[in-house]
Amino acid sequence: MELEECTPSPLQREPPVIRRLDEEVVNRIAAGEVIQRPVSAVKELIENSIDAGSTSITVVVKDGGLKLIQVSDDGHGIRYEDLPILCERHTTSKLSKYEDLQSIKSMGFRGEALASMTYVGHVTVTTITKDQLHGYRATYKDGVMGCEPKACAAVKGTQIMIENLFYNMAARKKTLQNSADDYPKIVDLICRFAIHHTSISFSCRKHGAARADVQSASKSSRLDAIRSVYGVSVAQNLLKIEVSDDPSSSSFKMDGFISNSNYIAKKIAMVLFINDRLVECGSLKRAIEIVYAATLPKASKPFIYMSIKLPPEHVDVNVHPTKREVTLLNQEIIIEKIQSAIESKLRNSNESRTFREQKVDPLDNSVSTSKAASTPPSSFGTKPQKVPVHKMVRMDSQDPAGRLDAYLQSTQSSQLQRSSCLASMRSSIKERRNSRETADLTSIQELIREIDSSCHTELLDLVGHCTYLGMADDVFALLQHNTHLYLANVVNLSKELMYQQVLRRFAHFSAIQLSVPAPLRELVMLALKEDELEPEGIEHENLKEKIAEMNTNVIKEKTEMLEEYFGIHIDPDGNLSRLPIVLDQYTPDMDRVPELILCLGNDVNWDDEKDCFQTIAAAIANFYAFHPPLLPNPSDDIPEEQIEQDLFLEAERAWSQREWSIQHVLFPSMRLFLKPPTSMATDGTFVKVASLEKLYKIFERC
Ligand code: ADP
Ligand code: MG
Repeated sequence: MELEECTPSPLQREPPVIRRLDEEVVNRIAAGEVIQRPVSAVKELIENSIDAGSTSITVVVKDGGLKLIQVSDDGHGIRYEDLPILCERHTTSKLSKYEDLQSIKSMGFRGEALASMTYVGHVTVTTITKDQLHGYRATYKDGVMGCEPKACAAVKGTQIMIENLFYNMAARKKTLQNSADDYPKIVDLICRFAIHHTSISFSCRKHGAARADVQSASKSSRLDAIRSVYGVSVAQNLLKIEVSDDPSSSSFKMDGFISNSNYIAKKIAMVLFINDRLVECGSLKRAIEIVYAATLPKASKPFIYMSIKLPPEHVDVNVHPTKREVTLLNQEIIIEKIQSAIESKLRNSNESRTFREQKVDPLDNSVSTSKAASTPPSSFGTKPQKVPVHKMVRMDSQDPAGRLDAYLQSTQSSQLQRSSCLASMRSSIKERRNSRETADLTSIQELIREIDSSCHTELLDLVGHCTYLGMADDVFALLQHNTHLYLANVVNLSKELMYQQVLRRFAHFSAIQLSVPAPLRELVMLALKEDELEPEGIEHENLKEKIAEMNTNVIKEKTEMLEEYFGIHIDPDGNLSRLPIVLDQYTPDMDRVPELILCLGNDVNWDDEKDCFQTIAAAIANFYAFHPPLLPNPSDDIPEEQIEQDLFLEAERAWSQREWSIQHVLFPSMRLFLKPPTSMATDGTFVKVASLEKLYKIFERC
């Protein structure tokens, strides 16, 4: 009986015939990979021109590259005898045996680019070599030269023209026609080449246009090149950076320019050359973003130009068909070196510091301080959903009936719209005076010294070098360090990190702007309501009113200090309007604002300076910590009828966003900045759960 069920259906029983693909089909498939879009063709052509020793490269583009791409250079040209095989697959002048790959210095080596272009477009090559009286022109299709090369007039070098790209790939052509065309990508690419290869002049223009969109001079300084292609506003805000291994070994060198604290941009611009190859290195980019986010108290993304030199045998250039991504030997060590160099450069830069405010809408706690980085990737599905007040249902004691959302929505929705408009119109840059002196207060210095002196060396190593494996439950993350597995309490850890960051950023905070200022008194009332389990009588209500009154008054007296040192702004009417940014790329859970205000009113010792700073820092840290969201965890089994669809979606979003932030913001930041106190070795923050060595032994025995 069982056997019968397992027998494959007659259809599956006949294995399909395996055939050898036609060479032409193979080549066309390969071509589609190498030349994915017009900009990839331009990159290959420019790299060929650079390999040919050119000092001037001109690019002309029509219809985003689909109609025409023409790259002209003044390089060494192509020998007449080589023209017939020029566009065959795997014909190259740059590599003869596999071992050469280890020390390859040219951009190209596969001999695939020109061939690929002939399978997806019409290619015409015009070239002249030194000492020839005239040049030659040849056309190519599907790897084959059309007819004998024709003699023609030519200026020094080579001109390669590709017409009708993807003429034979209807689907790709259509997608490219529909999507924004590739011209901006081509311009961006040439800008990148131009600032690295400063001895070459680059220009790029649209076909028929009189003016070039990129024009760099040859033999300019790096900074001049950056100024001419990226503009003065970039060039004037750069710091020069250099790192190298110990000079004797000369195995790793990096030099470049990085933006300072005055530079403002929404997206990171990273131009990376490794051994003169324009490449991407996602992990390095991410690592640099983290340093900026954590070092400079503003959400601006950096501009980075970086040229890294490594022994060729340390770079595997052959991992990506278009050589875009590279793999490095000792990548982690290199990244760490670069991170610490950037960090100290930024900290030591004498630039006057400017601070940026950010806006957050307390009605929508999905708005993050730095959206691009902290929003979970779209694979997390649901877009932030707002739950109408009337749809909010009380599910358990953890769900506060009066969430801040609900409160503000019901009472201030029209005012909200007005003031969020105003807020968005307000200038976002603010210069702080005297902030340096305040950071010199001895009590703050003392608190920071205490962090340093109580740092636990082994835990520091654990946090610095662990691998995050995932969340084991709502509070504990599973980590691997060497051959051990640990559970780590992310609430404790994040609270400590935030506490340390508050002290380090003391008087240097950027701000989260609440688009609607929230009345302190109401916030305290909300927090008190959250605490209570059962509604009580009128008398009890009066008592709460009194507590709220007292708390509000205490905080109001201290507004100046709260603003100056901690970035908590309370306006003259007693409304909270700004909160500090403690960890960039992460927005705290706005539902916890009432709790923060209650803590400031209740838990702070205002009489002793050091105590006061410590308790305020602790209150802010608690607010910022990665607590489990107040909404129920959708992965727990909640009976469907008990939860409304909208709320379910919001809960799902809150939980997945938290998990994403734990992995991508919290752990990377802890790696850099957390100094775990000795107490964490014994208070259950870390629990060793297994030794992999022992586990292996057990398995072996089995
Ligand atoms: P690869 O660059 O990997 O060698 P390509 O298909 O890009 O392969 O180019 C094939 C060969 O054509 C190169 O090895 C080079 O000798 C020659 N070539 C291509 N473009 C140029 C150019 N602009 N100037 C001189 N030679 C060129
Ligand atoms: Mg090439």
